Amino acid sequence: MKIAVFCGSSAGNEPQFLAATQALGQYFVQHGIDVVYGGGHVGLMGAIADSVLQAGGRVYGVMPKHLVDREIAHQGLTELTVVADMHERKAKMAAMADAFVALPGGAGTLEEIFEVWTWAQLGHHQKPCAFYNVDGFYDPLFAMIEKMTATGFLKAPYAEMLIRTADPKALVQAFAGYQPPQNKWG
Ligand code: AMP
Repeated sequence: MKIAVFCGSSAGNEPQFLAATQALGQYFVQHGIDVVYGGGHVGLMGAIADSVLQAGGRVYGVMPKHLVDREIAHQGLTELTVVADMHERKAKMAAMADAFVALPGGAGTLEEIFEVWTWAQLGHHQKPCAFYNVDGFYDPLFAMIEKMTATGFLKAPYAEMLIRTADPKALVQAFAGYQPPQNKWG
């Protein structure tokens, strides 16, 4: 299984974000899971790649050429694919991965997980999407998602399809047992 990890190009300013990222990377390797990610060497992006590689796992990076210097392309990856732009990066990551998870991050991280979530909603793929909710980081976003459902802007099955956990084992089990929503109208 290949899991696409979306996460911050920063590490945040509290140590639990880094620690949880490293623990997740180690868990992936112990369970034979490969990682697809943005290819950078900085922040939590660098941390997930380093933790998987150091534990002997495989990491596939996909980076637009204009970001190779800014996000400092990771030199030790199993494979680094340099693409033309952000759109190609996201399309390639989505095609390569069997499942998607957002770790804590900023606007870029949200953009990436929201795109694959909305693609699921439109029926473009049947792959699971997850939020790795370290220390309740995503609780305010979950409140927003509940608000969207309560006010009739989001169908309940598309709120419910999101896997929400901070436990590596629960995350991988939820991916393995995932059943996509039956139809886009819920
Ligand atoms: P951030 O969460 O803002 O630190 O960004 C994490 C990752 O998302 C980085 O690899 C960014 O290059 C990427 N990113 C930022 N903006 C976008 C965007 N509009 N579309 C896709 N990826 C983005």
